[in-house]
Amino acid sequence: MDFDLIVIGSGPGGYKAAVAAAHGGARVAIVERDRPGGTCLNQGCIPKKTLLYLAGLIEDVNALNGHGLCGSTHGDFTAALAHKDRVVANIRNNFPTWLKRLGVHVHRGHARFLDARRVAVTPEPDDAEPGEVLSAPRIIVATGAHPREHAVCRSDGDRIITSRDFMFEQRDLPETILCLGGGPIGVELAYLMHQFGARVTIAEQSGRLLNKPCIPERASALIERKFRRLGIDVQKNITIAGAEHRPEGVHVQFTDESERTYERVLVAIGRQPHTAGLNLPAAGVELDDSGFIVTNEYLESTAPGIYAVGDVKYGPMTANAALHDAKVAVTNAMKGNSVTRNYNRVPIVIDSALEIAAVGLTEERAEDAGFEPEVARANFAASAKSLGRNDYEGFIEVVHDDETGQMLGGCIVGPEAGEQIQLLTAACQSPRGLWFLKDISYSHPSWCEELENAIDPYTADFIQSGREVFRPGIYAIGE
Ligand SMILES: Cc1cc2nc3c(=O)[nH]c(=O)nc-3n(C[C@H](O)[C@H](O)[C@H](O)COP(=O)(O)OP(=O)(O)OC[C@H]3O[C@@H](n4cnc5c(N)ncnc54)[C@H](O)[C@@H]3O)c2cc1C
Repeated sequence: MDFDLIVIGSGPGGYKAAVAAAHGGARVAIVERDRPGGTCLNQGCIPKKTLLYLAGLIEDVNALNGHGLCGSTHGDFTAALAHKDRVVANIRNNFPTWLKRLGVHVHRGHARFLDARRVAVTPEPDDAEPGEVLSAPRIIVATGAHPREHAVCRSDGDRIITSRDFMFEQRDLPETILCLGGGPIGVELAYLMHQFGARVTIAEQSGRLLNKPCIPERASALIERKFRRLGIDVQKNITIAGAEHRPEGVHVQFTDESERTYERVLVAIGRQPHTAGLNLPAAGVELDDSGFIVTNEYLESTAPGIYAVGDVKYGPMTANAALHDAKVAVTNAMKGNSVTRNYNRVPIVIDSALEIAAVGLTEERAEDAGFEPEVARANFAASAKSLGRNDYEGFIEVVHDDETGQMLGGCIVGPEAGEQIQLLTAACQSPRGLWFLKDISYSHPSWCEELENAIDPYTADFIQSGREVFRPGIYAIGE
């Protein structure tokens, strides 16, 4: 059982690393103790996106009632969950075969370090016997994370649930639900349940929804306004002080001393790295105070040759970041440390009542970093395609440096923002910066052409002032 690389965990960080190494000719083993595909496939991105597509369709179809479509529609939550289960099972059932076809050796069981080069794989986490023993000079830990519990509102899988329970256990729609936490998971699942007919409240402890440095406040304000219009109750600067089970549901006391009873509570207050049972001290891998595996910019842990990717180490806890990490870690593990992680290159996408996608720096963060940011803007209300689709709420922001024209980042709120962001991401990575967006031949009518409309006044200004040669974007690949 000697390999060039062992990967622990088969979520996006793990499978991407295993496949990339196998493509490079390495002999690779991957170990998975649970359902292949990790959080992303089984309880995260894929099932969520499947359900949110239906939720969005309900809104779109009803908005076009009287505009060429007749009658209104509504969702069947139980059938939607069954549809979601079929989609996920279909992908999952093909997953191990796909990995094996690419030459990756798939091992089922709990991985535990014996030392810095050997990993035992056992059917149960606490098996005394080591079972299979795999060895390799390089190991990548990609064991992910699990939902964080709230101290006074612990999940029971029934009335008080996490996103995991939502995806695995919930079979019916509650009449009323409190989403504790207005981060990405909270706003996505809140919209989903609202569209299927639940009365939803979001309680967010900070002063805005999606309170993340990479999301501009304008995007948070727009989604909050839409939630209020739809009838989703948004409470900010508030959290739970106590929760008690009653026959009619969970009775919640809030920090502003108000009280209410909900049929169910969804706790979505973040995720915690998963390292239990790995026996990391045996390999010399250290954790930080929050339980994340400590890594350097090459994603190598405190133990030489052992790397960590995805949610288990500090950084953005998204599949997008895990996929980025995997490429970085595999290159470094197989060829020596040469590539550094850079999350400014990795987009984030939130799919809710509005799709929100962002990459790189916001205007505020660009200012903090010492740039003189200028924000080129366009609104989808002026987009022919959006008007034709009756879906025109949202905007594009392209953040660039006023002096040099360097691309710094941007945000797109609106239809298919998660697809449109690929273009902005490519522009950020291109040495041509704003010119990358200017010189594309766009299809028309399209949403992406609004990127050119946004930057047009700025490129014109650069041309007229004779400053036509931009410096490459700050994230340009190959710099
Ligand atoms: C509801 C929800 C929606 C989300 N939507 C998005 C989205 O739209 N876009 C996005 O980018 N991100 C999204 N995320 C986040 C995304 O799912 C995670 O960031 C991503 O899955 C992390 O990937 P990973 O490879 O680090 O870990 P995971 O996907 O969690 O995979 C880790 C794997 O390791 C296995 N494992 C753990 N310990 C061991 C062990 N000792 N031995 C063997 N195997 C082990 C686990 O069983 C698991 O399969 C969402 C998350 C949730 C909860």
